[in-house]
This record gives sequence, C-alpha cells and structure tokens, in this order.
Amino acid sequence: MNTLDIQGLRLHLPNTARPVLDGVDLTVGVRETVALVGESGSGKTLTSRSVLRLLPPGARTEGSVRVVGDDVLTMPSGRLRALRTSTVAMIFQDPRAAINPMRRVGDFLTESLRLTAKMPQRAAEERAVTLLDAVGLTADVLRTYPGHLSGGMLQRVMIAAALMGDPALILADEPTTALDVTSQAEVVSLLGDLRERFGTGLLFVTHDLGLAAAISDRVYVMYAGRIVETGPAEALFAAPRHPYTAALLDSTPRLDAPQGRLAAIEGRPPGLREELTGCPFAPRCAYATEVCAERAPALLPVAGEPARGTSCHHSEQLAGKVGHG
Ligand code: SF4
Repeated sequence: MNTLDIQGLRLHLPNTARPVLDGVDLTVGVRETVALVGESGSGKTLTSRSVLRLLPPGARTEGSVRVVGDDVLTMPSGRLRALRTSTVAMIFQDPRAAINPMRRVGDFLTESLRLTAKMPQRAAEERAVTLLDAVGLTADVLRTYPGHLSGGMLQRVMIAAALMGDPALILADEPTTALDVTSQAEVVSLLGDLRERFGTGLLFVTHDLGLAAAISDRVYVMYAGRIVETGPAEALFAAPRHPYTAALLDSTPRLDAPQGRLAAIEGRPPGLREELTGCPFAPRCAYATEVCAERAPALLPVAGEPARGTSCHHSEQLAGKVGHG
C-alpha cells in the first residue's frame, strides 16, 4: 500500500472559472521521496495541503486523498486531528513564521506529545533530545528561544518537530527557500538521511528543479492545476518529454551550461478566472498546433517507459527534440 495515494483530485474555490486542481493523480510509496515541481500558482502547495485537508474557506473537492489507505477528504474530524498530529507532518517554508518566538524550543517540540498523546514530560523531552541529535543539534537547544538560532538550525528544529509523532509521511513545502545556499544543501541531505533512518515517505514541494533532482526518486511536474509530466527523477531530467518540463529545465541555472542569459519561459500561466480549453500550456508552447488549442491532452504513459507519463498531444514526435536548449 502506498503511503500517499491521490486519485482524481479536483479542487474548486469560490470565484474561480476553473478547478484550481484538475484531476491530480499522485502517489508516494513507503520510504519514497517524491518531488512536486512547478511555478508559483501551479497548484503544488494546495495539493500538499489537501493531504492534511488544510484548504481555503469555500473549497469543494472531488476524488480521493488516501494516507496509508484512509481517505483524508471524508474522514471524521477526530481521525483528522490524529492524522495531523502523528501520521502526517508538515515542514513549512519559513521556520520563523511557524514557531512562537516567545516559547522555548523544548516546549514547542514536546507540546503535541504532552498534550495530545498524554506522554509524560520527561519521556517527551527524551524523545525530543533523540530527534535533535538525529538532525545534528544538541540537547541544550531545548532551553533556547527561536530568536537565538540561525535559519538553518531552526529548520532542523522544525524537521525534528515533524518527526516527533513518528509520521508515515512528511510534507515539505519549499523547506529551503528561506535559507542560505549552504543551509539548503544541509537540509536537503538531512531529509534524505532521515527518510532512510525513520522510514517515512516524503513529498517535497519545490519550484527549484536542481533541488528536486538532488533529493527525489520520482518527480511530478505541475502546470495550471494539472500534472503534465511524471517519472523517475533521473530519466525525466535527462530527457524531458513535455515542452513545459523542458522549458523549466532550460530556465534553471546549471554549472555545465554555456555562458550567457538563461532562457525565460515567455508569457504567463493562465489565471484562475480564465476558463481553459485545450492544453493549458498552448499559449506559451513553441510546438503548439491546432489540436492543442482544441483538446486537452490526457496524462498517458510514455511509449517504452511505463514508469513515465506525459500530457502532450505531440509527445511522440517531440521525443529527443525538447530540452536542454
Ligand atoms: Fe505544447 Fe501542444 Fe504539447 Fe500542449 S499539447 S505541450 S501545446 S505541443
């Protein structure tokens, strides 16, 4: 059984002309790290938040979001609370915004075990020390206030907090965006190690393809609320099959790339008040033809590579032509 299994997820919000998420299928296996990649506004954060049913007011959903077999979208509120405090943990973008600066780190780390799981204070502190050690911090951090820690140390505290409930799944939403480059690399490497050590699945949400390539086993690329390409990280980044994935890669800095300006993706993603017919990427796509404006492509397996999928009418003809321009 997959740790996370999202099938046909559609999310409607008030005052929008189209679903914000439109038929998202996504899985995370046991001990698997999956990256969800896309520009801002593509729907990747709402996809990860739907796993905790943390949705905006007025949101209406279709489809299913199963965590270890249980459908989050229909579960009663008592079970949802337990899911949020133990089965699934979330690491947010800015650790300083997610922690109360007036309380010591120890109180923050042990709170859910003491109050929700009714664990005695001493046992909760012992677990906190074990997890601080696992993320490379010492026990004296327990008595420290958040303002005395660097951004990188604080994100390590947030990762320790995420592990306190022994989760099956961690959702990491742009967890390195607020950090300097060195701390980014440390946090990414730490998340990889912890996945092995604690056996959690990890859904890593990012706009940064370099980070996605560094950490993930598999990748989903999202555009306008839809998955447009998916597959094993190495194969997908080596030879993208969707023009949007290729354009994202071409706009990502690489050390081995020729000198000069990076290729920007012309145009802008469709707004939520725009109805979509056809392929949502068509107005920005150099390979668009008449059929692209008329009919939305389905996400279909790539011929000869069953682990990969792409939603492009011309995927076959574009094999080997898109990417790394
Ligand atoms: Fe481009 Fe057409 Fe493929 Fe969409 S379906 S990505 S517009 S070629």
